[in-house]
Amino acid sequence: MTVSQVSSDIGRPYEECGVFGVWGAPDAAALAALGLHALQHRGQEAAGIVSHDRERFYQHKGLGLVGEVFGDQRTIATLPGDAAIAHNRYATTGATLLRNVQPLYADFEFGGLAVAHNGNLTNAATLRQALVRRGCLFQSTTDTEVFVHLIAISLYANVLDRLIDAVKQVKGAYSLIALTEDGMVGLRDPLGVRPLILGRMPGNGAWVFASETCALDIIGAEFVRDVEPGEIVVINAGGLRSIKPFAESGSRFCVFEYIYFARPDSVLEGHPVYQARKQIGIELARASAVDADVVVPVPDSGVPSAMGYAAESGIPFELGIIRNHYVGRTFIEPTDQIRNLGVRMKHSANRAVLEGQRVILVDDSIVRGTTSRKIVDMVRAAGAREVHMRISSPPTIHPCFYGIDTPEESKLLAATHSMEQMRELIGVDSLAFISFDGLYRALGYENRGAAQGHYCDACFTGDYPISLVDRDGALVA
Ligand code: SF4
Repeated sequence: MTVSQVSSDIGRPYEECGVFGVWGAPDAAALAALGLHALQHRGQEAAGIVSHDRERFYQHKGLGLVGEVFGDQRTIATLPGDAAIAHNRYATTGATLLRNVQPLYADFEFGGLAVAHNGNLTNAATLRQALVRRGCLFQSTTDTEVFVHLIAISLYANVLDRLIDAVKQVKGAYSLIALTEDGMVGLRDPLGVRPLILGRMPGNGAWVFASETCALDIIGAEFVRDVEPGEIVVINAGGLRSIKPFAESGSRFCVFEYIYFARPDSVLEGHPVYQARKQIGIELARASAVDADVVVPVPDSGVPSAMGYAAESGIPFELGIIRNHYVGRTFIEPTDQIRNLGVRMKHSANRAVLEGQRVILVDDSIVRGTTSRKIVDMVRAAGAREVHMRISSPPTIHPCFYGIDTPEESKLLAATHSMEQMRELIGVDSLAFISFDGLYRALGYENRGAAQGHYCDACFTGDYPISLVDRDGALVA
């Protein structure tokens, strides 16, 4: 069997999700539902919680937004206990099946185990094929189940050693939270590409894991620290223990979390996301100034950068596009048709701001270009005299294999078109992207060189820091 056959059998591998876990708090499931609510932007197709009351596990999962799955207090009441882990799922087309919704739960000889994971394994198909050959029966198409089977077949005696055995076999970008009968475990991949933070609740001292700090804020928990790249943090009745099973290999945190994915009120790896986005806008204004009357963000992720651009340029910031917040994010809806529909449903032009004006539009990225084109058309239809587009990421020219859904290279506008062709296709008077130096200056470095080796920016550079085992054909037919 070839790699591509395996891949298509298990569905597209890309997913970006939110994870949350709490240990030692009464009403853990209610806290987990709140945490998921704060992480809703990371996945909107399904949500799940597994709780434990020191006797047995309970679970509830469903398709839809957190409010739809856990909005009823009676549902939370079916999840007793002082420990819970939770997951928001985003999946591409075809894979939104209830059996794929996390956390995944399994009974082992050592007891029950629930696992929730965010990211993507780059050797999932390879491992899956080997596991299937050994007789493992997969119930879902998620990478998470690979962890579960690796733990199941491990020859180590206790669950922690089995988990370490499993993470040593996987390759990829992931954060993972696991719940056992007597502990909660949080871990990050050896390069820390995907985020995971540790927090603690004042008063009862309950420990919390979450993808982003905004999930601590909603429950009043305090930020303790980022889980380190390659670190396994174990929490149980004996307190907290840190295990580092990998040789130190630095950090390659996903720079796109700052540009688009994370919530602006989160702090990731010590950098407030809002400040980073605003500073990117300042850098954009310095590098690609143009005469205009208004700076208009494409809401919501373009807002802080547009504020930075306006502050630096002295051009007024105006809400020339109004977003309807009751529609899911365009970027993570599954088909072109829905995506296009989503833009019309989601954004409206504010004619009072745009008519007769020279407009600078600030957006976070251009992926396929279809969304940008529609927004520009809408702004022109509302009477804008000129439209200049400024983008707070470098051109996206490669797909992400580490957990952010991006189309293949041939569908990425910047991979297949020159700057002038893109400008023409999108229909703007001028187009500019943040430079690499500007991006990294916004994150506090002198220039790109100074940040070299600290971040993953592979979708802009093609410099993939983790080997792409499945893609590069390590799988033997
Ligand atoms: S390839 Fe891009 S989106 Fe993917 S982890 Fe790297 S920086 Fe993030």
